[in-house]
Amino acid sequence: MGVEHASANDSANVQTFLEQLFEQGLLIPSDVDGLYGRGAKFERLVDAISDLIGAWGIEHGAEVMRFPPAMSRTLLEQSGYLQNFPQLAGTVFSFCGEDIDHRRLLKCLDNGTDWTEDQKPTRIMMTPVACYPVYSVMAKRGKVPERGYLIDILSYVFRQEPSIQPERMQLFRQREFVRMGTPEQAQAFREEWILHARWMFEALQLPMTIALANDPFFGRGGTIAADSQRALQLKFEALVSVINPDRPTACGSFNYHVDKFGKIWTIRTESGDVAHTACCGFGLERIALSLFKHHGFDIDAWPTEVRTTLWP
Ligand code: ZN
Repeated sequence: MGVEHASANDSANVQTFLEQLFEQGLLIPSDVDGLYGRGAKFERLVDAISDLIGAWGIEHGAEVMRFPPAMSRTLLEQSGYLQNFPQLAGTVFSFCGEDIDHRRLLKCLDNGTDWTEDQKPTRIMMTPVACYPVYSVMAKRGKVPERGYLIDILSYVFRQEPSIQPERMQLFRQREFVRMGTPEQAQAFREEWILHARWMFEALQLPMTIALANDPFFGRGGTIAADSQRALQLKFEALVSVINPDRPTACGSFNYHVDKFGKIWTIRTESGDVAHTACCGFGLERIALSLFKHHGFDIDAWPTEVRTTLWP
């Protein structure tokens, strides 16, 4: 997904949908763009979407792992995220001063001036991609068994990209599956998920197309990285043209990392080769927003097939 700029017309439309979402109690506003609370009805739908995706994992015997929405700074440094997407990363800072610094902090708060001087980066960063915490955990287990690994992940993730487009939140949830093993296992997994996603969106009666994609790599070198990612067909996205017909929303992505993470975190297969990995993940809020936009705010009035898909 690239960083997009809304035109004046677009933002007028977008705000209307966002305002509707607030009015319906689906999202709860805050004073930060892209940071929202969720109402009961919205959560009920997000849970159902998550369960629909998760059903595939139950069927395939995926190992369930849950991580908090923050992760080790060391792991994130190793991952290459800061090289490629420094603009999106969030670092957790905390007060690390003495009494004298605290007094300065209190004074700043009283005066309404900058109080962040004594804030120092901690060992923790916000998780930007749900699957990042999992690779080093699996590497520590030793060689990947012949059948490979299949892991079910669900986490809030953070992206530093304030926006008034409701589909571009700063904190949102990804339900993801990660496959580790041979190149064949990783590729077959991704192919299977692309097919399964076609079925899923069809069952939800959302217009979806699968398209070759690239990540929003930062800076001058970013174009080269993006071109190479496309040339190698490493990333495909599930695009849904509902929230904004002019700019389809990526509601899922199907990523083949080749041996990148296998090399970074020394994951090896039984035969001693570097393991290949792939991950397929979905943005739960984006799918929920697409459903509300496409089928309306009254869930009871949605097509029966859509409702029984979500609540079997
Ligand atoms: Zn992933």
